[in-house]
Amino acid sequence: MTEEKKVVRKNIMSTREMGRIMAEYFHEMDQASKTGDKKVAWCTSVGPAELLLAMGFLVYYPENHGAMLGSTRMATDLIPHANALGYSPDICSYLTSDIGSFLKGETPLTKAFGIESVPKPDVLVFNTNQCRDVKDWFAWYSRKFNVPLLGVHTPREIGEITDDHLQSIAKEIEALDRSALVVPTDLTDLSQLQKMVDQVQAKFGRIDILINNAAWTPTVEALEVTEEQWDQTIATSLKAVFFLSQAVARIMIPQGGGKIINMGSTLGEVSLPAVRSMPRPKPGFTI
Ligand code: SF4
Repeated sequence: MTEEKKVVRKNIMSTREMGRIMAEYFHEMDQASKTGDKKVAWCTSVGPAELLLAMGFLVYYPENHGAMLGSTRMATDLIPHANALGYSPDICSYLTSDIGSFLKGETPLTKAFGIESVPKPDVLVFNTNQCRDVKDWFAWYSRKFNVPLLGVHTPREIGEITDDHLQSIAKEIEALDRSALVVPTDLTDLSQLQKMVDQVQAKFGRIDILINNAAWTPTVEALEVTEEQWDQTIATSLKAVFFLSQAVARIMIPQGGGKIINMGSTLGEVSLPAVRSMPRPKPGFTI
């Protein structure tokens, strides 16, 4: 008789640490939700989480909750409750399981961390860059919690960006009762960059937040990269970040402060075949 081979499973060290981080994250939001000592924003994937964090919000992601509902197998029982409300079985199951979870008052946070319910939002912020469902999903919660819903519909699959695209975003921001100024700028040109900063200061009188988000890289193999492509990548993704921050800091320091957010990329850490040539300027932010 052959002896049954025992499978030896090794615990991954990071699993425990990840559990600790997640517990801390959810407990902090639970506390804020109960005491109101900090504001909680709900944010969609590809939403402006960095902005919200810079503003001091704790940020909660309902799509992650949807993933937890799936991985704990709670979703199957909860989805029909959202379907009964009129949400089609054909739409995103993260949405329907999350809404079902709210309707039933059940969450995997209870078993995992002893938390009774998801944190109550003070504001809901969406971006439809990835999918249109998120706006309806958040609009439902906005009505339930009676809190503001903010967000923009970003144009998708558009090829070249025209002035109409930019103006349509500005109009959406103005519809939120905010001011917007569109200044198309080639960030690799330092004189254009300074003109943009001057225009913003002239219109708003001060600059409180700068988000360095622009990046460019050729999508060719490393052996094919030209010197021109290399220079263009560094100019957009690294040089512009420094000089734009410098120009804005010259306004922020005399006014008493401000926030500069540099958006990085996981492509600065790992290599993918299609972008193997990326010179990885993002780690340069840490220089
Ligand atoms: S399909 Fe849309 S709503 Fe669902 S998880 Fe993806 S981005 Fe979020």
